[in-house]
Amino acid sequence: EEQVRDLRHTLGVKVTGALPPKPVSSFAHFGFDEPLMKAIRRAEYSQPTPIQAQAIPTALSGRDIIGIAKTGSGKTAAFVWPLLVHLMDQRELRPGDGPIALILAPTRELSLQIYNEAKKFGKVYNINVVCCYGGGSKWEQSKALEQGAEIVVATPGRMIDMVKMKATNLRRVTFLVLDEADRMFHMGFEPQVRSICNHVRPDRQTLLFSATFKKRIERLARDVLTDPVRIVQGDLN
Ligand code: ADP
Ligand code: MG
Repeated sequence: EEQVRDLRHTLGVKVTGALPPKPVSSFAHFGFDEPLMKAIRRAEYSQPTPIQAQAIPTALSGRDIIGIAKTGSGKTAAFVWPLLVHLMDQRELRPGDGPIALILAPTRELSLQIYNEAKKFGKVYNINVVCCYGGGSKWEQSKALEQGAEIVVATPGRMIDMVKMKATNLRRVTFLVLDEADRMFHMGFEPQVRSICNHVRPDRQTLLFSATFKKRIERLARDVLTDPVRIVQGDLN
């Protein structure tokens, strides 16, 4: 217990919530399989960032997460790697169409960044990733979805358009990520984010990331997460 406290102190993370898993200090301790480890070695990361050290074991244990950490802290990999583990388990168990993992992000630029990260690590398993954002061609995006996407990265408004057009459906989604939730809200996407959450099965795993944790985000967390572990790196602002 004391060791865990010390490690969290060194990492600068504060953890609240029932029975949070222990943080880890090295990639070898995540229990990832060899293909994923190889891809991580290829990326030349020497050790997990603090948010990764605590969020990844938590996500791998199946828990919902509220992750608060500033830009540049490595949050993308903190959700992409556990998402890939989840996907590899689920794709065998539940064949079908529609994505298993859905990541919502506020802008075209951010969704493309996440898309590239998901492709970089997902390619070791031949996973299909599709990115849908406002301003891009609806026709092209719907074609890509129809060809089958196990991971979809999308801006909230465009995701709803795609579902309305019946280019895809959310029935198979069991892993949902809300990235940069505060920015999505600033951009006016709160109704779309909530609507999507309400259309994804309630027994999903949900990870919410934000740079800040104000009232509206707290309310969203209360409404869409189940028994989350809250991980805060640095000062809460
Ligand atoms: P955030 O989403 O928190 O703003 P990103 O996920 O975009 O941060 O990561 C910021 C940068 O850090 C990226 O260039 C990413 O490749 C790099 N990065 C991620 N994890 C690690 C790590 N464990 N070690 C070194 N660099 C990392
Ligand atoms: Mg990010």
